Amino acid sequence: MSEEKRKPIPMVDLKKEFSLLKPLLLTEIIDVLESGHYILGEKGQQFEERLADYVDADFASGVANGTDALVIALKALGIGPGDEVITTPFTFFATGEVIAQVGATPVFADIERETYNLDPKQVAKKVTDKTKAIIVVHLFGQAANMDAIQKIAKKHNLFVIEDACQAIGTEYKGNRVGALGDVGCYSFFPSKSLGAFGDAGMIVTNQESLYNKVNELRNHGSISKYMHTSIGQNSRLDEIQAAVLLIKLKFLDLFLHKRKEIAKRYSEGLIDSIKKPVVSNLRTHTFHQYCIELNNRDQLSTYLTEKGIASAVYYPVPLHLQKVFEGLGYKKGDFPAAEHAANRILALPISPELSIDAQNTIIDHVNKFVAQQD
Ligand SMILES: *Cc1c(COP(=O)(O)O)cnc(C)c1O
Repeated sequence: MSEEKRKPIPMVDLKKEFSLLKPLLLTEIIDVLESGHYILGEKGQQFEERLADYVDADFASGVANGTDALVIALKALGIGPGDEVITTPFTFFATGEVIAQVGATPVFADIERETYNLDPKQVAKKVTDKTKAIIVVHLFGQAANMDAIQKIAKKHNLFVIEDACQAIGTEYKGNRVGALGDVGCYSFFPSKSLGAFGDAGMIVTNQESLYNKVNELRNHGSISKYMHTSIGQNSRLDEIQAAVLLIKLKFLDLFLHKRKEIAKRYSEGLIDSIKKPVVSNLRTHTFHQYCIELNNRDQLSTYLTEKGIASAVYYPVPLHLQKVFEGLGYKKGDFPAAEHAANRILALPISPELSIDAQNTIIDHVNKFVAQQD
């Protein structure tokens, strides 16, 4: 097919995924509509149980989105004004936002160059007597170095919150992330590896008291109707999203397998002068994003756009350089690894429904561009 006629290649094609699962999904959605029960019902409970099983956690609570999952996790752990929470500056904004939202202070620590995840050595340097927790992000679908993070947490008596929003199904030493720390948070935003048809999220934990607190906080600080024991919020997973997620969870391992296959094809096909994702020992990478690094990333992005191929920069401005966090007193140069990545990284389309033709087209064009630069 000539280049002009070829359909553009988007980052993700949610319409295509829907058309594949349409009969199954419609049956389940109609079931919910006919039940007359739309919030905190059977589907939500079933999905909580299945998800807890899937990640091997004792308890799971559905919430409205991944950001709320993080906020509620922080509140359930009693974190607020006067407390410091250490996290990565190289993540989606929500990870830092939630710390400020509960009134605590975000403290950033630099990342590992290879994995883009928190560097435990840098985390250790940031611990003070105000530090209460570490939010560890498993960025792009690769597990962070949990043993080293847990060791620091244990030494200083800190909580570990896992932001597993990009990493459902990812393993660290054979165990799924999210259930390794005190609390794990997931997002089912439509483009995530497990996506709803709207916003949805989940909190998992192995501690019953935390689970009870989370259930209270997500529902106006109330466990029994009209009896309020804390100031909570309205953040519940609705039945339609739960029904959709129950169906999609059955296909999750297949979806993740496809992502890994595409990543392998990219890594084999792209020429060596491009820095490709490195998967660390003892961890898996489920490739929520496949990110390459190169000097002229912006030119490559423009070149790909001209060829009808989408690409994206995750993330162009690290959190410590965001305007809203100016008051925290960070400056350019504070986190060289995060800034290096932010200037060079480019994500290529990767989603289970991406055809082999499209994958080859992407590989050819990226290679052609890079060859022209030499
Ligand atoms: C998507 C995401 C979130 C927020 O999830 P929402 O469901 O969009 O609120 C938080 N952290 C990370 C790392 C994410 O990728």
